[in-house]
Parts: sequence; structure tokens; C-alpha cells
Amino acid sequence: MGSCGSCVFQAGYKIYADTRVGRCFHTCYINRYIKNAGENAFHSKMTLFRYNSLRIIPVPTLSSNYTYLVIDLDNRNFVMIDVGHMSKHLIFSVQPDAILCTHKHWDHCHGNRELRRIYPDVPIYGGEKEHVPDATVKVADGEVIKFGRLSFTAVWTPGHTKGHMCFLLDGSEFNCPPNLFTGDHLMLGACGANFEGNVKVMTQSLNKLLKFPDRTLIWPGHEVGLGALLLAASLEEDNLAVRKKLVWVILRRIHGYGTCPSTLGEERLFNPFLRTKDESLLKHLGLLTDSWDEEKEVDRDDMAAACFSEILRRFRDKSQEAKAKKARIIDDLYKDKQLASFSGR
Ligand SMILES: [Zn+2]
Repeated sequence: MGSCGSCVFQAGYKIYADTRVGRCFHTCYINRYIKNAGENAFHSKMTLFRYNSLRIIPVPTLSSNYTYLVIDLDNRNFVMIDVGHMSKHLIFSVQPDAILCTHKHWDHCHGNRELRRIYPDVPIYGGEKEHVPDATVKVADGEVIKFGRLSFTAVWTPGHTKGHMCFLLDGSEFNCPPNLFTGDHLMLGACGANFEGNVKVMTQSLNKLLKFPDRTLIWPGHEVGLGALLLAASLEEDNLAVRKKLVWVILRRIHGYGTCPSTLGEERLFNPFLRTKDESLLKHLGLLTDSWDEEKEVDRDDMAAACFSEILRRFRDKSQEAKAKKARIIDDLYKDKQLASFSGR
């Protein structure tokens, strides 16, 4: 999350996101990462989640990304989501029914080209409002795409990129909660940077997710929970939900495990970017006074946008402190030699 407004930043971003130079740059990054860390270095231990015959496997890739494998064992359907790096760990004897791609950034779609080479008949889905490299099918907001009992609804969430899509998997066929694959839109305690949408677009887009039930499982594109919750905790020191989740996240990370999924109900309690209309947070940030009743004419969306900007401003002030805290925690983690060798450090 950072300032995305300067001309220099915008020019660099455009070259990275929309040109072949960006692909080359990212290829170099992947090669350097593998050279330093090794092909078998994962940022988190691999975990399999079972919901009756549904299996969801977040595969850790590169420094913080997740590629998701979604499998219906009974009907033998298999979908991959966000293949940012087509590593040897993602080549299977079973051909996937489809690849879904949340957005165009290379760490979410760099593997598409290799996937097309290996599985030339497998469709690759991307949002209709942006050019997802090597995607073969465009999906619109609200469109339902089905592979046997795996039924996904595309949810357009502009802000991080113009055409960013989240994908909602209907859990009813498996007697489990809905599953929302959020890419870089929503992450544990955080959201992605609003590279291609102003603050109002981003907050509207985040608030769009609040219509889903609390039990909705959130599967983000990155493992960022520890740093995000340290910042969230610094924002509201009296928020018990943040502190409880932070302790849980530290324990998970100490043992090398990832922190997904969270639930939408949890995020409502501690993710400040989903609480930009929450009166207690607005008051906490000094954006709302006790005489709120007299101020009802204020546009709630404008207020949410102001809240988003204020959170970012405060996070910028606190980010060095949070980074130092995170570094201390991570250093403690790596004192465990077994974890250090597992992580390739
Ligand atoms: Zn992104």
C-alpha cells in the first residue's frame, strides 16, 4: 500500500504491468528468487483443506503468493486459480478443467503462458475489463462459470487494477461455506494497493464484498497477515479481535503455517479497510464526532474514502515500526533451524 499518484510511479507501473518489459523483469525476478531460495523453498507449509469431497489447496509460491487448487474428488473436476509461477509442483497427471486469473499482475498470471503450452485446450479466464496475459476467455461481473459441481461467480472489484475479479465458489454443493478467492483485492487484515482506481472506487469495491455472509471463507493471493495485523493493531489498540487474531497468526507463522483462510465475519471485526463505514473506527480516527446525527447529510461513500486515506496515512507513519517488529518476530522464527532449512534460508 503506498502512494500511487506520482508520474514517475505511474510510468514505471505501466511499463511493469502492461508491457513485455514487465514480463521480462518478472521472469528475472523469478529466476533470481529460485537461484537464491531454491525451487523447493516455500514461504509456508503446504496445507490441504477438506470440505466433504471438496479440496482446497493453497500452494505457496515465490516470496508470498498463493496459487489455489480447487478439486471436487467425487466428480474429478479440478480448477487452478492465479498461477503466478508455473513451478514443477504445479504439474499434475490430471488436466485442470480451467484456470481462473484474478488480475493481470505478473505474480498472478506469469504461469499462464506455460499452462497454455502444457494444456492447450484448457480455458484461462480473466476479467473482461483488463488484458490478462494469455487469458482465452473473458468473464463479466456476475457471470457464473461451472465445471461440474464447481460453480464460480465472477465478482468485479476494481481498484487494485481496473478489471480485478474475485471468484466466489458456491459451497452449497459441498455443504460448506462460500469460498471467495480475492487475489490482491482483500487479504488477511489488509487490501491491495489501489494502483488503478481512486480511493472512492477502492472503498466501494471493498464494501461490495460485505454483502456476502459472515461465514464466507476468504482465500487471498498473498500471505501478508503478520505485517498487516501488526499495523491494524497499532491503529486500534483496544480492538480485542485484532489482538486475538495477531496472536493466532504469530503462532501459525512460528510453526511455518500459512494463515488462510480467514472469514468475512472475522475481517469485518479487524480489517480496517472493510470498516471504513464503521462508526467506532471513524470516531477513533477523529473523522466523526459524537454529534453524528446532525451530520447525516454527509455522503457515506465520501466518508469511507476519507477513512481509507486516513488509515493509509497512519500506516505510513507506523510502517517502519511495524516492519521492525515483524523483522524481530521473523528473526525469532528462523532461530528454529528446522524451519530455516525448510524455508531455504
Ligand atoms: Zn496485484
